[in-house]
Amino acid sequence: MFESLSERLGGVFDRLTKAGALSEADVITALREVRVALLEADVSLPVARDFIKRVQDKATGAAVTKSITPGQMVVKIVHDELIRVLAGDGEPDALKIDNPPATILMVGLQGSGKTTTTAKLAKRLKERNGKRVLLASLDTNRPAAMEQLAILGTQIGVDSLPIVKGETAVQIAKRAKTQANLGGYDVVFLDTAGRLHIDEVLMDEIQAVRDIAQPRETLLVVDGLTGQDAVNVATEFDGKVGISGVVLTRMDGDGRGGAALSMRAVTGKPIRFVGMGEKMDAIETFEADRVAGRILG
Ligand code: GDP
Repeated sequence: MFESLSERLGGVFDRLTKAGALSEADVITALREVRVALLEADVSLPVARDFIKRVQDKATGAAVTKSITPGQMVVKIVHDELIRVLAGDGEPDALKIDNPPATILMVGLQGSGKTTTTAKLAKRLKERNGKRVLLASLDTNRPAAMEQLAILGTQIGVDSLPIVKGETAVQIAKRAKTQANLGGYDVVFLDTAGRLHIDEVLMDEIQAVRDIAQPRETLLVVDGLTGQDAVNVATEFDGKVGISGVVLTRMDGDGRGGAALSMRAVTGKPIRFVGMGEKMDAIETFEADRVAGRILG
């Protein structure tokens, strides 16, 4: 079990002066505990360091009143700063479709949960927003992946573009676009091929698809349990194809979600959704305060 930050800091501050304002020494001592908490939550070292430095500047000299202990004060400042970094500037709703048909390009490594997430988002758009959705798999190397998306589509009652053998990803993207226009669809999800590792061929293919599809959103799906790897994947994808947001999957797992903070701090891209399980309803809009609470334990 993780020890919560409040518990950790409670002990630290018992040994410190309870003056009217936090001294630099108090803050430095407390922030050592915060740093450990962040690293345990899988926040990367440079991001944790940077974060601590900013909090140190904010916390030193902060007034401590009778109603709040020095420990609580530090936790509050840390919490507020976490939310500030995680939330960004109030990003728009990723699924707001104002000019149909809109294309949403789904990218990510194999096994990240990309296909599952595609279906979850399609279901959400259909049920909550009443949108007509079309699914298309571009994973021409893996017929099983194409079938999987079609099966999920049937399960959630959303149409899939018929599979035509021998087409390239770009050809499928074009056909999806035509079908979306002819069929009066509001949204088309293009589920791009996943690979075990990032490679040039994959990136070239996604770039070509992107140029044809002109997506409204390019969502990167990453496994939220992979910590720093998830951030590296995001940096690579953003550099090569440009992403508009991130979906962190497996946030129902044991992880503390520190990848969210590293992701936001390093890539600057908003986290739009979090995957909370294997079921088709297990997806939630990203909420900074919930993740901040989890990171702090
Ligand atoms: P893809 O290769 O990226 O398309 O990955 P899939 O969508 O096939 O997902 C791989 C596995 O991860 C499947 O067994 C999914 O059910 C599972 N999965 C996807 N998202 C989540 C999630 O948020 N939580 C959990 N626990 N499992 C997930």
